Amino acid sequence: MHRINHYAWRHSARFHSTKSANTTIIAKGVSHRAAAALTITSLTAGYLVGTYQSSSSPEEHQQHERVLPNGLPRTCCQENERKSTLSPEQEKELVQQLRKIVGEDHLVIDGSLLNSKTQAYLKGARLGGAPCLCIVTPEHLHHVVSIVKAVVDAGAVIVPQGANTGLTGGSVPRYSTDSRPIVVLSLKKLNSIFPLDDGKRVCCLAGAGLAQLQLFLQQYFPDRETHSTLGSTFLNPTAAAGVALGSGGTQCRKGPAYTERALYLKVTQNKWKENVVEIVNTLDIEGLEDDPNPRSRLVMDSVPYRVDTWSRWIQEGYAQNFRYSTPNARPARDVHYKERLCAHDENDKQQKQASRISRYNADTSGPEFVRSEGKVILLATVHDTFPKPKQTKTLWLSFDQLETALQFRKQVCLNNPNDVPISCEYLDRDSFDIIDRSGRFLGKMIAFLGTSSPIVSRLWNVKLAIEGAGFPFLVDQWLHFINNAVPPLLPSPIQKLGHKWDHHVVVTVGDFDDTDHDDNSEASNTDRNQNSLTRFEQRLQNFLAQHPSKVETYECSPSQVPALTAFRFVAAPAFRTWCVGEGVQGYSVDYALPVSGGLAPPIDQPQPLRRMRYSHFACNVVHEDLAYARDVDLDAAKYAFKHIVEHDCGGRLPAEHGHGTEYKAPPETQRKWQYLDPLNVLNPGVGQTSEHFQYKTE
Ligand SMILES: Cc1cc2nc3c(=O)[nH]c(=O)nc-3n(C[C@H](O)[C@H](O)[C@H](O)COP(=O)(O)OP(=O)(O)OC[C@H]3O[C@@H](n4cnc5c(N)ncnc54)[C@H](O)[C@@H]3O)c2cc1C
Repeated sequence: MHRINHYAWRHSARFHSTKSANTTIIAKGVSHRAAAALTITSLTAGYLVGTYQSSSSPEEHQQHERVLPNGLPRTCCQENERKSTLSPEQEKELVQQLRKIVGEDHLVIDGSLLNSKTQAYLKGARLGGAPCLCIVTPEHLHHVVSIVKAVVDAGAVIVPQGANTGLTGGSVPRYSTDSRPIVVLSLKKLNSIFPLDDGKRVCCLAGAGLAQLQLFLQQYFPDRETHSTLGSTFLNPTAAAGVALGSGGTQCRKGPAYTERALYLKVTQNKWKENVVEIVNTLDIEGLEDDPNPRSRLVMDSVPYRVDTWSRWIQEGYAQNFRYSTPNARPARDVHYKERLCAHDENDKQQKQASRISRYNADTSGPEFVRSEGKVILLATVHDTFPKPKQTKTLWLSFDQLETALQFRKQVCLNNPNDVPISCEYLDRDSFDIIDRSGRFLGKMIAFLGTSSPIVSRLWNVKLAIEGAGFPFLVDQWLHFINNAVPPLLPSPIQKLGHKWDHHVVVTVGDFDDTDHDDNSEASNTDRNQNSLTRFEQRLQNFLAQHPSKVETYECSPSQVPALTAFRFVAAPAFRTWCVGEGVQGYSVDYALPVSGGLAPPIDQPQPLRRMRYSHFACNVVHEDLAYARDVDLDAAKYAFKHIVEHDCGGRLPAEHGHGTEYKAPPETQRKWQYLDPLNVLNPGVGQTSEHFQYKTE
């Protein structure tokens, strides 16, 4: 902690007017009990922190000059005036048309202002805040088709949006050199989930979220699990956005969010230069095959309309009959992921494989809609569900050096594809210290309420609303301050290990009985999947015997596991809280290293004050949060770091958070996106591509 003491800084004067703002916003966002509790604690903290900051010196009031991992203040002070290529009458006409399609209740008109109504759509988890023409929140898939046509014909552009938890700015309007008005298409009201094949798969409409899917499976198929667990699962990110980005998360056996089965829209032009909204259907669901007559103008024949009807029937309690996949349906997950993870041996014939990256966002393999980052509009996706393991075990392992941890990964975890652990998460000392210093409150909430609780995501929205109401640092200052009064999140034996060692891995292993996936090698490997836990333990014992005094392990009881999960999940928010609380600046980077690698990329001068490295260890997907003194040029430091990752370490970035507006997409990815959206009317500017019509340079 002493390393940063001389940068420690007290809080700015913004606090004095917080009380009334907090009260109003909270009253809108959460249930009365939660609101009351939060209001009381916020008021108390507001008072305490207000008292605490009163001694700050004039230069200590320069808080707005530093940069935080969410892009503040670069985006908070931009001009809010919106320029437009359309006349006010044309804009009015477009809004009127959209109102006709979706109805008044599904349209937020004044997208030019960042306020408590628009904040959730205009500001992402880290970036955003630019204005738009309006926000549409349709409830029917066939409305989406009409919306897209209307917007494109009017000469405006669309930013598709799911739950808006994206970290890289791809889901929100952005300041642009192009003046075509932006319509935010929020798909989160389209949130039906349908079981397929007796629950072995699910079809999720574009707004269905991972937490919602978790609850759905718990209720109807308690022996099945979802395809994806992200650090943001508690915020209910959508399954569709996972596919649009190539999101990752913690699940080594399941792989990234990936499917080859989807229903989506593409925008092209025909030879008469008319805009065409093409519906593409690779859902492979019986009864939802392509339109019997694709040329038919009847909306009722279209697949989106038929899915809408199916959705309505299910909501009304009819049509409980299961639907089934068509024979020879395409895969609904990344089938060969586990094999890729285990091809890490640099000396064997697969050396080429070892230098491969397990997953990254710019990967252009797979069907065109995968990792398309808003360049097509996904209406629905099909995902495998996974059988729950018969038995699981969670271990906390602390290592003397990263090299020892990497050997553990290779020898014990990734010994063979059948025995790949369920999850395997790495944290270094700075991650441990910072989460413990600033993440206890949020962690306790997640551990207590669970990752799928809607209360946590509502409280998160309250945080965003407070920040949007002109108090960008208030909640983080409060969280940092109150942390000292909250008991540690982790059980005391792990706290001790955390303070003693520099490198930690939390690994969960299980015994499986995978007999139900017919599209890959697992079915024939059933016997080998069984007893994978015993085999893991044998390998671990051998490893411990070979590395005496270099590793310490602690076996967690099932009741301790939620706290461990929460501890890992709050890493990213804890970093921001810590930077705000300590008065320093910071940035975050998401990258993947070759499957055989994993050492920390070297950093040139200036050295960071703190370097949080936490990773999905088996996949080698790393998140780094780096804190710097306030006089450092953060953009230059970030650029230099990205260069080292890519050019010196053979890594790729971003790995799972998507390019958004934060990362430049490589040429092959840009070419793919241009092919998908030749007019550049969907998510223009993503991956730092041209923002202009047909990708003109200006
Ligand atoms: C605390 C925290 C932890 C996180 N942890 C992880 C993690 O462990 N792993 C990880 O991968 N990510 C993580 N994220 C990032 C984020 O949650 C994921 O990227 C998630 O998949 C985004 O889902 P969303 O519904 O919020 O998408 P949004 O943010 O709404 O959109 C993301 C992108 O997808 C596009 N998009 C959304 N819906 C559609 C659609 N229907 N059709 C076409 N394009 C669409 C958008 O245009 C945008 O480009 C984390 C975020 C937070 C805040």
